Amino acid sequence: MSVAEHLTEIQNRIAEACASAGRLVDDVKLIAVSKTWRAEHVQKAVDAGQRVFGENKLQEGQEKIPVMSDELEWHYIGGLQRNKVRKVLSLFHVVHSIDSLKLAKYTNNVAADMDLKPRVFLQVNIGNEESKGGFSAEALEACFSELLELDSVQIVGLMCIPPAVEVSDDARVWFRKVVELRNSLASNHGVSLPELSMGMSGDFETAIEEGATYVRVGTSIFGKR
Ligand SMILES: *Cc1c(COP(=O)(O)O)cnc(C)c1O
Repeated sequence: MSVAEHLTEIQNRIAEACASAGRLVDDVKLIAVSKTWRAEHVQKAVDAGQRVFGENKLQEGQEKIPVMSDELEWHYIGGLQRNKVRKVLSLFHVVHSIDSLKLAKYTNNVAADMDLKPRVFLQVNIGNEESKGGFSAEALEACFSELLELDSVQIVGLMCIPPAVEVSDDARVWFRKVVELRNSLASNHGVSLPELSMGMSGDFETAIEEGATYVRVGTSIFGKR
């Protein structure tokens, strides 16, 4: 199947998951994760109408973003080191990987200096895995007031990469925990935190059933990396 055919299939599956969850299809946005693929391959998705893309490495963004249409929206979904923040903010529209208070403050300062108000997600390490970045639920509760004081970053919601599971339905408990955390932060602090970035090729339908508003799909669109 071509990239265009894969995209159509993923859109149909998103629509079905929305229908079965009683959600509006417009409430779920597809991020086509183009990491490792050359601009020519990514362009096939653009030609098929896809406008939102995700990359997890600054260097790949530097190679692709400037040579592709400036109508595209780029999401930075990889681990973010301080020394890359300025360049990431200059290229990407949305950052999904703010994983500590320190990084949030630093990113806020850089954004202020660049006169930008980037949308950011707080990455949650919902399974408390050593191998993954992100706030633990407890750490996030503890520093959330301080995060809300940052006025150059727009905190739109939470992002997670749940622990690996055998079948997609097993990811459901982790997605639910993220939703619960979002709900408790929102009600305790009187904010809305509307966006949830969760769900990848193997489990995006489950994530949609649980409330995802952004799904990040790579392999099922572009092929095996
Ligand atoms: C690679 C990646 C994805 C996409 O994963 P697929 O299984 O290829 O769909 C989603 N989110 C993040 C953070 C990634 O690094």
